Amino acid sequence: MEKLIITLAPTGNVPTKAMTQYVPLTPAEISNDIISCYARGASVAHIHARDEQNLPTTEMKYFAETVRLLNEAGCPIIKQISTGARGGKSDEARCEALKLNPESASLATGSSNFPSSVNANDPKLVEYMADFMLKNNIKPEIEVFDSAMIPNALELQKKGLLKAPLLFNLVLGVKGSLAATARNLFFLVESLPPDAAWSVSVIGAQHVNLSTIAMALGGHVRVGIEDNIYFAKGVLATNAALVDRIAVIAKALGRELATPEDVKRIWGVT
Ligand code: ZN
Repeated sequence: MEKLIITLAPTGNVPTKAMTQYVPLTPAEISNDIISCYARGASVAHIHARDEQNLPTTEMKYFAETVRLLNEAGCPIIKQISTGARGGKSDEARCEALKLNPESASLATGSSNFPSSVNANDPKLVEYMADFMLKNNIKPEIEVFDSAMIPNALELQKKGLLKAPLLFNLVLGVKGSLAATARNLFFLVESLPPDAAWSVSVIGAQHVNLSTIAMALGGHVRVGIEDNIYFAKGVLATNAALVDRIAVIAKALGRELATPEDVKRIWGVT
């Protein structure tokens, strides 16, 4: 079976220090967690940024500092910049940090709900972002919050805005979107094009179970405090502990861990 890509999502837009002291928010904290998790087997870092008030921001300067610290440390992890809907408003703002030329960026190919807000991705905005990524050789990771986002991505591929092999992250367990069930996971996986690369991002109590099923099916896994502030019931997570647990399961399943070079091969990027 293909090597396993562990993507680390250390920060996200939602967790605060009041919710968990372990969430990294400053560029120094974020880059330290990424470097530590790279050493533990993560090969992709899904990066968000916060401003001086620790609020989500899409401004390039906040992402730039994290990227600079990673480069300064010589950390070769694949960098994936979030273009998530909670971070900013205008089309240009959603793409601003992509000017840092990361290897990858997230791309939700439709709208859905978060627990208390809308995950708004107007079709025109989605096309704008896909086009921006295509022109700048940034691999889009299609964030599937709802099953319609898969055929939406195939439409973009037909229009020439996405290039095969498509890369999907199946997000399960966000309140207001797809529930974290094995049935939903199987349904989504069966809906993907056969040559697609895919991972799961499971929020909540089913994180370990469904991530393990995904690994057994040949999929990849995203972990991190963005998705789960709890490691187990009543136990706060650290990013390192979340990566370590997936690495142990991967070993038991006979999946070797992918290096950043393996990621590029699996994603079909140069
Ligand atoms: Zn994110």
